[in-house]
Amino acid sequence: MTDRLSAREILAALIQFPTVSRDSNLPLIDWVEEYLGTHGIAAHRHWNEDRSKAALFAHVGPDEEGGVILSGHTDVVPTDGQDWTRPAFELTEADGKLFGRGTTDMKGFDALAIWALVEAHHAGVRRPMQIALSYDEEVGCTGAPPLIAAMQGVVPRARDVIVGEPTTMQAVTGHKGGISFWVHVHGFEVHSSILYKGVSAIMEGAKLITWANEVNAEQAAAKPSDLAALFDPPYTNVHIGQISGGTAHNITAKDCEFGLGFRVVPGEDPLSWRERLLDKVAEIEAGMKAIRPEASIEVVDTFSLPTFVPEEDNSAEALVRQLTGDNASHHVSYGTEASHFQATGYKAVVCGPGDIAVAHQPDEYITVAEFEKGRHFMRRLVENLSA
Ligand SMILES: [Zn+2]
Repeated sequence: MTDRLSAREILAALIQFPTVSRDSNLPLIDWVEEYLGTHGIAAHRHWNEDRSKAALFAHVGPDEEGGVILSGHTDVVPTDGQDWTRPAFELTEADGKLFGRGTTDMKGFDALAIWALVEAHHAGVRRPMQIALSYDEEVGCTGAPPLIAAMQGVVPRARDVIVGEPTTMQAVTGHKGGISFWVHVHGFEVHSSILYKGVSAIMEGAKLITWANEVNAEQAAAKPSDLAALFDPPYTNVHIGQISGGTAHNITAKDCEFGLGFRVVPGEDPLSWRERLLDKVAEIEAGMKAIRPEASIEVVDTFSLPTFVPEEDNSAEALVRQLTGDNASHHVSYGTEASHFQATGYKAVVCGPGDIAVAHQPDEYITVAEFEKGRHFMRRLVENLSA
């Protein structure tokens, strides 16, 4: 493998590794490390705790700060229960489309980034280029913070980050953050004829759900901040997507469990919503304990992602605008690793080939035209860093 592979050949190589988030991504990381090695590019790994997965990062160009990171995730969502008419883990082409799990989300960008890194290395860029390939993005962007931490001091600190989630190559400069919880209400079982002696986990849980509805109404009625006004809807909302509890119509429920999550607009801190929730939980719990001291509400943190805040002077955004010619403002409703990079002081922008609408779908594809658009972008980036 000493030759320079085309971006398309790299994509075919990446697609063949079934790097579903629950499984290891090591065969893919081995392949990337070996391929970069044949070009004399040293790659670094950051392992997860049980060493079943690794992130990879690499630096080319002068040994100095201020470069550009191309950031992608290596994991993909499962294909279980999906109706695929083609092999999911083999790149196939038909009707101007390249099919395979991850072609859009986001091995298409990963392939282009690896291709661009090798091009930049051979072109002898004057400003550094780096790649950062994470794991566990699809299960809550949990792989990015340890990867970012691992890069510090090992490669020179870059300034700008391009996170290549599929945006059809538009510059996305902001998204909401989020924070989610699993709530377990522990009640006290009695026959419903003597309800006042028991604690119904369902009816107490319902108080928290009523509060959620009140929060949504209050948020919707408030005047949005300038930052919040960029998003749809222009406010933080809270949602309960799953619930279970109770055993019989005439027994007060001993258990009620539900998943509760906030989608938080930039300008607000997800952790402040956590505090508001816990305040309300404490208030409801006090009422429950007054009846039965063993009753309680348990709240487990399940997910959190910082907001990605649109910034006035964003050099990563300026770079991408210069390369794409797109001067419009774009904000999205899904979360990305860009917020983790921003939270650690980088300038970040989300921009990558493909349409988010086909991500996670059966027969996922990227059009040849979009992939070529991405390759053209990378070609211009290498020129820009060489100038
Ligand atoms: Zn993705």
